[in-house]
Amino acid sequence: MTSKSVIICGGGIVGLSCAYYLARDGWSVTVVERNAEGADSCAQGSAGYVSPSHVVPLAAPGMVWNGLKWMLSSKSPFYIKPRLDADLLRWGWLFARSCTREHTVRAAPVLRDLSLTGRRLFVELAALTANAFELRQEGLLNLCKTQQCLDHESHGLARLANELGVEARVLDARQTAELEPGARMDVAGSVYFPVDAHITPRKFMPALVTLLGQMGVTFQWNTSVNGWRVEGGRVGAVSTTSGELRADEFVLAAGSWSPDMTRGLGIRLPLQAGKGYSLTIPKPRFKLTKSLILTERRVAATPMGDQLRFGGTMEISGINDRIRPERVQQIIDAVPVYFPDFTPADFAGIKPWFGLRPVTPDGLPYIGRFGRHPNLTAACGHAMLGVTMAPSTGLLVSEILGGRKPSIPLELLTPDRYA
Ligand SMILES: Cc1cc2nc3c(=O)[nH]c(=O)nc-3n(C[C@H](O)[C@H](O)[C@H](O)COP(=O)(O)OP(=O)(O)OC[C@H]3O[C@@H](n4cnc5c(N)ncnc54)[C@H](O)[C@@H]3O)c2cc1C
Repeated sequence: MTSKSVIICGGGIVGLSCAYYLARDGWSVTVVERNAEGADSCAQGSAGYVSPSHVVPLAAPGMVWNGLKWMLSSKSPFYIKPRLDADLLRWGWLFARSCTREHTVRAAPVLRDLSLTGRRLFVELAALTANAFELRQEGLLNLCKTQQCLDHESHGLARLANELGVEARVLDARQTAELEPGARMDVAGSVYFPVDAHITPRKFMPALVTLLGQMGVTFQWNTSVNGWRVEGGRVGAVSTTSGELRADEFVLAAGSWSPDMTRGLGIRLPLQAGKGYSLTIPKPRFKLTKSLILTERRVAATPMGDQLRFGGTMEISGINDRIRPERVQQIIDAVPVYFPDFTPADFAGIKPWFGLRPVTPDGLPYIGRFGRHPNLTAACGHAMLGVTMAPSTGLLVSEILGGRKPSIPLELLTPDRYA
């Protein structure tokens, strides 16, 4: 146990998870969040997957070619809006460098360990909160419309996952239908990952805030971090719109805003915001039990209580709140291809939500101390896996600050890897 103090900069799912594991270790924890309690954050409208099946990093072989092809179409699943920006050019160059088989081989076991640990910790958190956030341990189906896609998934993702000890079963159309009897699907088959799970993120965030309040965590809502006081190489205080706050340790958990937050510290963290959209149908025409991926279209579908959420697309277009209708339409158009009973009318009147995923060039998060300021620890850059990995990131941060051996090796995750 410790009586030392820590300030967590950013109160998204990752910051709150860090707060939980640090408070559990006896730290005096303050979370500084520029938004009000209960405000939207990236996890809230996400697909809510807790997905050890996602063992392939975003920066994977073939992505450079696909990326270049997709760049030309704002309707593609992965869209980089061309712009002359030094940070984007550097990020793009580092991303291209990571799209190798060697990188996948090194990164996949780390992603697996972060995700499996995250899943285990979600089970513990569900037990602590009477499952207030609807954790469902039903697995995930990667639906393939065509046999070609199914063959590709079987030889690629399913094989890699099985090699890494994450069970993947290749199913034909009949076996797929047996796993989701409530929905009529037009698919060639699927890959089933029994270990995957999902949550309702809009219920998870308030449940965690309540738990943290009971543990004595202090919240500074409506408070923006806008600078730092550095004393002899260490961070002495963070400057905020509510004044200067001192602590022994600081955690950077500002998602897509993390590079902005560190600018005054002489740190240049390569990270781009990856916009994604979701649409939540309050009364869907059928009930699913599992989370699904419409593989060819890269669209996610998740049952959340009585609701059904569809989400997807990755748009690297900077930090802005512009909703591109053509990208939302791409999600709507994909659904009837796999579920013939659905029509675009099912989405009438539903307001699209967007969130900004914090995307690193190599598809691995930044977790670890900064060499330049050793009492500042990074917990950001989780891209498409920030829900899945939030608890394991929190646990790792508590191990780092507590001086314990990290339960997952940190070498590939260091925030100094591009310094
Ligand atoms: C469509 C979509 C679907 C997704 N689906 C999944 C999924 O199924 N499974 C999964 O694992 N992940 C998923 N993700 C990714 C996941 O949602 C993110 O990786 C995760 O939410 C990032 O959390 P974070 O806490 O790092 O960042 P954020 O949630 O962005 O939190 C950062 C916080 O820092 C605050 N902040 C920023 N600047 C300042 C400042 N100067 N001062 C104070 N506070 C500040 C912000 O207000 C914000 O609250 C999805 C994302 C999208 C967009």
